[in-house]
Amino acid sequence: MAAERKYQRILLKLSGEALGGQGFGIDAQTVQRIAAEVKRVHALGVEVAMVIGGGNMWRGADAAATGIDRATADYVGMLATVMNSLIMQDAMEKHGMATRVQTAIEMPPVAEPFIRRRAVRHLEKGRVVILAAGSGNPFFTTDTAAALRAVELNAQVLLKATKVDGIYDDDPVKNCYARKFDEIGYMQALNMGLKVMDSTALSLCKDNNMPIIVFDLQQEGALEAIMRGEKCGTLVSKDVKEPV
Ligand code: UDP
Repeated sequence: MAAERKYQRILLKLSGEALGGQGFGIDAQTVQRIAAEVKRVHALGVEVAMVIGGGNMWRGADAAATGIDRATADYVGMLATVMNSLIMQDAMEKHGMATRVQTAIEMPPVAEPFIRRRAVRHLEKGRVVILAAGSGNPFFTTDTAAALRAVELNAQVLLKATKVDGIYDDDPVKNCYARKFDEIGYMQALNMGLKVMDSTALSLCKDNNMPIIVFDLQQEGALEAIMRGEKCGTLVSKDVKEPV
């Protein structure tokens, strides 16, 4: 089994929208499908940590634009990520995986608090660890929380699941001539203002040399293919000299 996997420990970042299927909120079938995809890599012996966003329910910046205090709006957003994480946990346990949810904002009746060493121990024991409530701080995103957790849990790669199969130089939905990058450097992605992740998340990965793979989770088997070392999506790392 071990020979079949390139990575021992991964951090998988799902946006809240990834749980919504084609729309808003949560689509039960989509959540089940994601759980099945995670199970395939878990079965390879990969240690899986996950960070799930909340954008399918609430985005702090959008709510602030309607007049709600930004910090308050962000705390609501973090609570939305907890709801998504609990729903994902339920689906994964129904697929036979042992899981733990850890929250960056303490809520003991609901989940464990985030304790780094305990999270690492869960991973070593083969439990999928879902890290909820973002970073616990307003004015951040779950992408930044994912970068932070990937670094502190010593993941070998941050996998960012999106609805497109990688990073393009323009929106491939609107521009059919948009070019996809197979690989790109952190600085290039930052300088070109590419919508990979927000700049805080990208800078954290850059400073800590955390590779990011942006891929399409809707593509069946993509996650497993990445685990086997196949080229899939776009790799963001320091090693690239020129955009490909
Ligand atoms: N959020 C926050 N701090 C964090 C992570 C998230 O304040 O560390 C809030 C923020 O308001 C954000 C919302 O939670 O808009 C939902 O997260 P995000 O927009 O990153 O979700 P995604 O786009 O991944 O679904």
